[in-house]
Amino acid sequence: MIDTHCHIDFEEFDPDRIEVIKRAQDRLDYVIVSGYSNDSNMKVLQLSKDYEGFIYPTFGFHPVSSQNASEEDIKIAHDNIKKYLDNIVAVGEVGMDYFYVTDKTLRERQQEIFKGFLELANEYKVPIVMHVRDCEKKAVNIIPEYEDIPYFVFHCYGGSLKTAKKIMNMDNCVMSFSTMLCYSKHHQDLIEKIDLDYVLTETDSPYLAMTKEERNEPANVTKAVAKIAEIKDMDISEVDEITTGNARKIFKI
Ligand SMILES: [Zn+2]
Repeated sequence: MIDTHCHIDFEEFDPDRIEVIKRAQDRLDYVIVSGYSNDSNMKVLQLSKDYEGFIYPTFGFHPVSSQNASEEDIKIAHDNIKKYLDNIVAVGEVGMDYFYVTDKTLRERQQEIFKGFLELANEYKVPIVMHVRDCEKKAVNIIPEYEDIPYFVFHCYGGSLKTAKKIMNMDNCVMSFSTMLCYSKHHQDLIEKIDLDYVLTETDSPYLAMTKEERNEPANVTKAVAKIAEIKDMDISEVDEITTGNARKIFKI
């Protein structure tokens, strides 16, 4: 199994990161840690070096913080993506968040920065991990412009079934489902109708735990896989084989 998206570089894990990773190693094949900011990108790079062959990094700039980022901040992110191209398995997380960002000008700024990262991923032909919230359709309309990006990942997909069907019609787009599956009816309804060939699994740790007070961790991705198996009436091993296979193909690991 694989947690394709988490943030174990966050300070929430400072007291016991080693144990958290140990629990992940006991249950999972790989963990992908997604950079969130310039500092975070460097931290995930270090983690991938400390746990070579188990932890893989992606470099990005979170859309909610990107709205206020300076040109210099974004330039540093771009430069580091180019510099560490051989280390990273994707660009991300980047994207657009219309849930938290409601101001029109700030949304435009987000989109402009997102397009900058799309151009970069297109130029270097690397997959892109996208945080797209409440604007999934808009993202689906933008991405066909970037023909050289090998794969587009909708991390924590929560859009409509209609948009999910459009995503399944593009052969290089997948949707990632998290531990949220254990308690969100909307996500359960989605996964029931989405073909597993377009599905990845993740935790988005430390977020999206079973309760608000809890801290999520990569080993919990097993719960998402079990839930998918239950909903689709399949064996856990079968779901694991397909979703882990998808992730290995996309991120070349
Ligand atoms: Zn994330």
